[in-house]
Amino acid sequence: MRVGIIGGGVAGLAAAYHLTKQGHFAEVFEQAGFLGGQASTFDVFGGRLERGYHHLFVSDTEITELIDELGLGDKLAWLESSVGFYHGGTIWDFASPMDLLRFKPLPLLSRLRVGLWTLLLQKTKSYRKFEGVTAKNWLSRRMGRKGYEVIWEPLLRGKFGEFYDKIGMTWIWNKVILRVASRKGTGQKEHLGYPMGSFGEVIDYLTADIERQGGVVHTSATVTKIVDSDGPATSLDVQLIGGTTERRDYDAIIATTPSYVFTRLSPPLPPAYQAQLDGTDYLSAVLMVLVMDRPFTDKYWLNIADPDMPFVALIEHTNLIDRELYGGTHILYISNYPVRGSELYLKSAGELMDLFLPHLQKINHDFDRSWVLEYHHHRVDGAQPIVGINYGDSIPEHRTPLQGLYLANTTQIYPEDRGTNYSVRMGRQVARMVVDDASA
Ligand SMILES: Cc1cc2nc3c(=O)[nH]c(=O)nc-3n(C[C@H](O)[C@H](O)[C@H](O)COP(=O)(O)OP(=O)(O)OC[C@H]3O[C@@H](n4cnc5c(N)ncnc54)[C@H](O)[C@@H]3O)c2cc1C
Repeated sequence: MRVGIIGGGVAGLAAAYHLTKQGHFAEVFEQAGFLGGQASTFDVFGGRLERGYHHLFVSDTEITELIDELGLGDKLAWLESSVGFYHGGTIWDFASPMDLLRFKPLPLLSRLRVGLWTLLLQKTKSYRKFEGVTAKNWLSRRMGRKGYEVIWEPLLRGKFGEFYDKIGMTWIWNKVILRVASRKGTGQKEHLGYPMGSFGEVIDYLTADIERQGGVVHTSATVTKIVDSDGPATSLDVQLIGGTTERRDYDAIIATTPSYVFTRLSPPLPPAYQAQLDGTDYLSAVLMVLVMDRPFTDKYWLNIADPDMPFVALIEHTNLIDRELYGGTHILYISNYPVRGSELYLKSAGELMDLFLPHLQKINHDFDRSWVLEYHHHRVDGAQPIVGINYGDSIPEHRTPLQGLYLANTTQIYPEDRGTNYSVRMGRQVARMVVDDASA
C-alpha cells in the first residue's frame, strides 16, 4: 500500500521505516530543511549537537533496539550522569538517596519523609491510583508542605510554568520510575545513554534505510491540506521547494504534527474528536546553547529551584559527553518552557543573552561573557504537552474518525512522558495499524 506521512521527526520516520520494511511504499514530508524534528541536530565545532539536549534512559528499549537494528549499537554509550539542585545560592548534589539525606535546606524529618514516599512511589507498579489527583495535592499531602515547596514545586514550575498546579500525579510517578530504572551498579548511580555520533546520525541511518527500502523522504516540503475529496481522507496538498503545490494520493495518511497543526490541515472532524484535540495545551521550549572555552559547573543536569531565575535547568552536555567531539569546547544548554507567543518566547538571541548572563554569574561567580565562543538560539514548538488529571480518558485515538487518516503525536504518549523512545514505539504501532486496517 501507499502511505503519505506528515512530519519527518522520529515518529514519522519510524512509521516510514516499518512500512517500507514490510514492502509498502511510504513518502515523508517534512516542512523544515532538516529531519529529526525535536531531536534534530546542528553543527558545533566539528560535532553534531541536538537543538534541545537529548539523552536516553535505560528503560528506553524501543529506540535502543532500533539503534542496534540500524547498525549503530556500538556507538550507543551509557554514561554516569551527575545531577544538581540549585537552591538558595548553592548547588546541591541531587542524584541519589544519600544526596537527599544530605540536602540541608530541608529539615531532617522532611528529608526522611520525602525519601520514604519517593521510595513508595518507586514501588508502585500501576499509575491508575494517581489518575484523578494533581501532583501538587498528592505531593504536598504525602511529602509535607516543606518537601513540596522546596523540592517538587520548583520542579513542576520549571517544567510546566503557569500550569504547574494542573499536572496529574501520573506524570511525576512516571518520572520517578524512569530515573530509578536508570540507576545501576554499586552506589546506584544514574546512567544515561547517548549515541556518540548524535541523534542526528541515528536519523541519517534511519532515513537511508527508508530510502533503501523504497521509501521517499522530502525536506522543505510543507503539507498545507489533508484532502477528502472522494470519501477517505487520503490525499495531501504539499508545497514543495520553489513554492509549487502538488496534490498526492495515497491509501492512508499518518500525521505526526502537534494537534493544533493537525486541526488546521485536516478536513472537519466530528466534535467529540475535535474536542479531544483541542483539550491538550502545549508549552514550547526556548533554548540557548553556549559554546564555551571552559566548564560552567561539574554537573550534567542542574535543576534551578529559584523562581527569580529566567531559566529552569542548565544542561552541561560536555559533563556527560566527551568534549573532544566538539573541538574541545564546553557546551551548556540554558532551558525554559514558555507558552508560545509569550514574552520570553518572543525574545531574540541577543535579548536572551542579556537576560540570562547576569543570572549565570549568580550561579558561578567567575563566569564571564568572554568564556562564550559562540551561542545558538532555538525555539521548539509543541515541545511539551500539558498532562492534567485523568489525562488518559481524553486521548484522541490514532485512528481518526475519518477513514484512512491516522494521528500519531506526542499527546498520545501516556502514561509515559513524550520522548524519542515512545515516538519510535508509536510510529511502529501506527504503521502496523494502517496495514492491518487495509487488510481487514
Ligand atoms: C528541549 C527538548 C528536550 C528533549 N529531551 C529529550 C531527551 O533527552 N530524550 C528523549 O528521548 N526525548 C527528548 N525530547 C523529546 C523528543 O525529542 C520528542 O518526544 C520526539 O522527538 C518527538 O518526535 P515526533 O516525531 O513525535 O514529533 P516532532 O519531532 O515534533 O516531529 C513532527 C514533525 O512534523 C513537522 N511538521 C509540522 N507541520 C508540518 C507540515 N504542515 N508539513 C510537514 N511537516 C510538518 C515538524 O517540523 C516536525 O519535524 C526532548 C524534546 C525537547 C523539545
